[in-house]
This record gives sequence, structure tokens and C-alpha cells, in this order.
Amino acid sequence: MGSGQVTDWQGMHVTVAGLGVSGIPAAKVLHARGAVVTVVNDGDDARAREQAAELEALGITVRLGDGATLPKGTELVVTTPGWKPDKPLFEAARAAGVDIWGDVELAWRLRGPDAAPWLAVTGTNGKTTTVQMLASILTAAGLRTAAVGNIGVSLLDVVLGEQQYDVLAVELSSYQLHWAPSLRAHSAAVLNLAPDHLDWHGSMEAYAADKGRIYEGNRVACVYNAADNATEDLVREADVEEGCRAIGFTLGTPGPSQLGVVDGILVDRAFVENRQQNAQELAEVSDVNPPAPHNIANALAAAALARAFGVPAAAVREGLRNFRPDAHRIAHVADVDAVAYVDDSKATNTHAAQASLAAYESIVWIAGGLAKGATFDELVAKSAERLRGVVLIGQDRALIREALARHAPQVPVVDLDRTDTGAMLAAVQEAQRLAVAGDTVLLAPACASMDMFANYNKRGDAFAQAVGELGAGA
Ligand code: ADP
Repeated sequence: MGSGQVTDWQGMHVTVAGLGVSGIPAAKVLHARGAVVTVVNDGDDARAREQAAELEALGITVRLGDGATLPKGTELVVTTPGWKPDKPLFEAARAAGVDIWGDVELAWRLRGPDAAPWLAVTGTNGKTTTVQMLASILTAAGLRTAAVGNIGVSLLDVVLGEQQYDVLAVELSSYQLHWAPSLRAHSAAVLNLAPDHLDWHGSMEAYAADKGRIYEGNRVACVYNAADNATEDLVREADVEEGCRAIGFTLGTPGPSQLGVVDGILVDRAFVENRQQNAQELAEVSDVNPPAPHNIANALAAAALARAFGVPAAAVREGLRNFRPDAHRIAHVADVDAVAYVDDSKATNTHAAQASLAAYESIVWIAGGLAKGATFDELVAKSAERLRGVVLIGQDRALIREALARHAPQVPVVDLDRTDTGAMLAAVQEAQRLAVAGDTVLLAPACASMDMFANYNKRGDAFAQAVGELGAGA
């Protein structure tokens, strides 16, 4: 079917795999363009029936309770990004030579001829933050932009909406990239690569390869993390447009074609005249909010993409200063008795928690929850010397306790064997007992929250509320 924009959908038999946030709008849009749409869905519950009825009223066929078999005559499959690639439906499609597109691919193909270019970001951690920083910088430069994609704003809505944009800051997950074969960004960044979602991708190699697709066909810059060789390898393997440059970011002094940090200043040695000799000051470390090392890395990646798009240095500074992180990402909740309480409930894997622990000198660490198959040895070994104490919560806390016994036997550990609603208050009280003036009590669980909370937001809220109760008692 080629890789360009598709203009004629009349009579084309399209199977949409999966109801839900991306499936329903995709089905409606394709139906409106004249395609013959069948939606297939594994589930057949009350909610699915309600959604099906709504689509059927428009004339769309819906098949509930069978997402495995490919409807006869299918010429294209459009899938929900979360569906695993080894499903029988996809095997049947591949065997029949039928293309499979995800939500991002569909948006890419349906975008208009004058559509705004995409500056795309992926990585295991830091995507949302970086995309929001990037949008803030682009806005400061006077460009019409938005942070879209995996961040919760549907690309399909954006590319088909009324609003005009000069450029989009696009967050892409590894699932979305897997199903987006013809996406061609103006420039893109892979922030970091650590094992995650391996059950879905099948292996670390497959996960990395999907992330690496973000660089395919880039026109101006492929931005990589100089401290993470795997990201640079992906740039090397990518097939890009003639003249597209590899641009590194580093927390150290930047070499030519890199952005980095010199004496507390974020500097650009990539998008300047005569980069062998020159560097351009972009901002100060204190302009980054919060100025934790991993977040400075995010800021440099965002700055690199903005500079690749031609944004002046002053807008980078202003955009970073205007940026406010989303809740539960290294959010300073309060100081109580000269101890800082910090909520990084969004640190739901070990790579994120490690970045967060590296940002503080002396920490009482609140950790635990659902480990999702992770191991904690590396995290604990790397962070041991910063730990004043540890309070463990949640279902898989024994895994962390055992890693602590192996790599940090001297660190006091409180193991809280309770999952009731008061458990977070108990955890915070225990942390307060362990902390001394100048310490940071850090909620960076390295685990998912669903054993005790509805989601990471609720976990962070419970932490903040518990800290509030400490303050009241102090
Ligand atoms: P994502 O969208 O990739 O999940 P977020 O920006 O929401 O990323 O940040 C999620 C968590 O990951 C943060 O709370 C922080 O603990 C951690 N984090 C953010 N940036 C980085 C980074 N560059 N490297 C490692 N961990 C990071």
C-alpha cells in the first residue's frame, strides 16, 4: 500500500482491532471516509456492548468476543497499539499480505498535505516530561504547538482537528512505534533504554528495535543520549535523510555536535556556527525544574530537538523556566523538621527510581508495590551509599528486602506488612522516624501501584496527605 498519505478509502475493507480509546475514533473516521469497517474485540462485556451499539448505529460492523480471527476480505488492519504482535489475527494478516497500522500510523497517513512536522520523543523514562519541556520551549519561540501522542492527546484528533500547528511535540511509546512503519519525523530523540515491557516485545533486542524506528527517515537530527550507548547504536542503524545529523546530549562537557553542561550552564555545541570552536549558552541548570540530573538530561534532549527546528537560544531558557512538571514526578511536597518529603510516585520501574535516588544525597526511601518481573540488585547496589533507611510497602516488597540484605546490609529497613488505606501514613511515619535533619524522604517505589492503589496518582496523593498529617502533628 506504499507509505504515503491515503486519499481514497471508498469501499476499502478495514478491520479495526480493539474497541477503546484509539479503536473507536479510528473506526468512525474510516467509516466517514467511505471504508467498510469491521471492529473486532476480545471482550464482550456490558461496556463493550454499549460501545458496539453506538458504532453499529452508524453502520459499522462490530464483532465482540472474538479478536483472534481475521474477517474475510480484510485489506488493512488498524490496531490498538497495546495488542501484542503475536496475536493470531496479526499472523493471519501477515500471511495474507495485509498491512497492519497502529493509531500513530493512521494519524500519519491521514494528516493533511500541509501538516505540521513532528518532533518525536521516546525512551524508557522521561518521555512525558521531555515532550512537555519541548512544547514549552516551542511556545516560548512563538510557534503554534502542542504536546501530543502517548501523553493522552490523540494524534488522530490533532491531525484531523481544526486547529493549525507549526510543529508538534510528539510522545511515542514502544508499542506505537512498533505499529508505525512509515512515520518520518523531522527530528527525534531516544532518551534512554532499559528493560521494560519485555513480555510484550519478546526480547530486549525487539524492544530496542521498536524504539529505534523513531529515527527512520529523520530529516534534520537524530538526538541520542551520550551516556547510553544503546541509543547511539540505534542512530547508527537508522536509515535517515541525506544530511540528517546525529546529535548527542551529555551531563558533561559537550563535544562537537553535542549539547551538554559546563559550569552549571546548558550549552549547545551542535547548532552553532563553527562548532569546533564555539558553543552557545542556552540556560542555567537552575532554570530546569527540578534540577535533578536526569531532568537536566531531559531538558537537554528537549533543547536539542527545539534547536534542530531552529529555535533561538533565548526561547530555550524561557521555555525551561516556564515549564512545570506534572504531578508525582519528583514533586516537593513539604519540609517537616528540616526533612524534605518528595513524591516521585511515577517512578514505577527500577530505571526511573535509580534516577530519582541519584538526585539526593541522603535518603529515606519508600519503595515497593508490584515488581512486574523486575530485579532490584543493580538499583540497590548503585544507591546503597545514599540510603539513610528504607521503608518497604506493597506486595513484592520481599524482593527489595532481599536485594537490600545482599547489597546494603547496614541500612535499616522497616518492612510494613499492611495494605490497608492507612498503610501510607504508617510508612511516612516510619520514614520520619528514620530521617535526620537535611535528609530527603523519597517516595520512588520502583514498582507499579495497583496492589494498593488505583494508580500512581492515588499513591502519590496518599503520600502527600500523610505528609500533611505529619506537619499538623509537628
Ligand atoms: P514517561 O513518560 O517516559 O513515563 P515521565 O516524564 O512521566 O516519563 O517520568 C516518569 C518517571 O521516570 C519520573 O517520575 C522519574 O522518576 C523518571 N525519569 C524521568 N526522566 C528520566 C530520565 N531521563 N532517566 C531516568 N528516569 C527518568
